[in-house]
Amino acid sequence: MVELADKIALKIYEKYDSLGKSGKPVEGKEWTLLAGFLVHKNNDIDVVSLATGTKCIGSKSMCPNGLIINDSHAEVLGRRSFLRYLYNEIDTAKKDGESYIFSYKCTNDKCTLLDNIKFYFFTSHIPCGDASIIPMKSFENNVILRRGLKRRYDDINSEKEDNAEPDIHRTGAKPVKGESRQDPHGKGENYHIKGAVRIKPGRGDPTLSLSCSDKLARWIYVGVQGALLSQLIEEPVRISVLVIGGGCQYSKDILEESLINRSGSTYKPCILQSTKTFRHSEIATGTSRPSPASILWAKTFQEKIQVSVDGKPLGCTKKNKNKVYILECKREFLKKFLSIKRIDNLNLTYREAKDMAIEYQKQSKVFKETMGAWAESKLTTELFKISKEELKQEKN
Ligand SMILES: [Zn+2]
Repeated sequence: MVELADKIALKIYEKYDSLGKSGKPVEGKEWTLLAGFLVHKNNDIDVVSLATGTKCIGSKSMCPNGLIINDSHAEVLGRRSFLRYLYNEIDTAKKDGESYIFSYKCTNDKCTLLDNIKFYFFTSHIPCGDASIIPMKSFENNVILRRGLKRRYDDINSEKEDNAEPDIHRTGAKPVKGESRQDPHGKGENYHIKGAVRIKPGRGDPTLSLSCSDKLARWIYVGVQGALLSQLIEEPVRISVLVIGGGCQYSKDILEESLINRSGSTYKPCILQSTKTFRHSEIATGTSRPSPASILWAKTFQEKIQVSVDGKPLGCTKKNKNKVYILECKREFLKKFLSIKRIDNLNLTYREAKDMAIEYQKQSKVFKETMGAWAESKLTTELFKISKEELKQEKN
């Protein structure tokens, strides 16, 4: 299985290397996270989406028009780019009857996945939040204790004494407000509670974005397609294999507990770690500054590489902020959804379009109830509608 994990990691790294310098970390000074989706068909494994990123905007910067992406952690952007790939495949299947992964059925106006298709998800690092609370190896623990939580990969590997108290890796994500149990912040293993739904840390202004562990748990439970695409695709889109990049802390048991068992998911993807480390990861670069930029790429008609900062395209200013946006933003997805589904009701808000996914929302509700406290999205950022002109442009 290591062979498959390494093959998947190397495919993603190769794609990443082919994308040019723009939006990548400053060499020797910055690091980033990398994630993406791959399609396995017959004997081919193909990268279909890829993204980098480590940041998340605070609630005050959230956009009421659906133009700014709130959460730019690589896993989240990698999934959004994958959604763009799925929209593109649906377009093709509806036009030609079949695409690389879908066939189109006129009977219910939905696409269905071809039998021989599997999806893999790669992330260069363990997802933030619950799944990253992993017991430290004693030598890691020693170094961290001595250096006040600042650590370098080389240091960890060169010191292997064994006299520290048991400890766990920390996460910056805090349990959501409604969670009755909060982190005790005690010594060693008593720093965090396990199993909590967590909110990503922000810089000053708090974020409303859930940790990647919680989001991944949801994608595993209900499928990665989300509410809008669930109305265009017959079955949930499942991750068959989840691969974590090499070099980072890893525990299969804790990942399975956090991403699968915690929600009571009956669907269980295979979880693997690659031996290959991402060359721009924190560990490989030995740098401490996360890159503020993200890159997004999806295998679509226009294979354009996008660079974003704070959820907006590089070069977005106050003047042009309503005209330029990342193609994976909510507004763009709503446009695509309305145009594919041929809905002309322009009074439909983004929230209402998501609520039309009755079956998906039902399952999502069961999932959230099992997970305990869950942070709902901010309603005021989901009430935008698409204008007639925008929809017309989308159709062309
Ligand atoms: Zn994350």
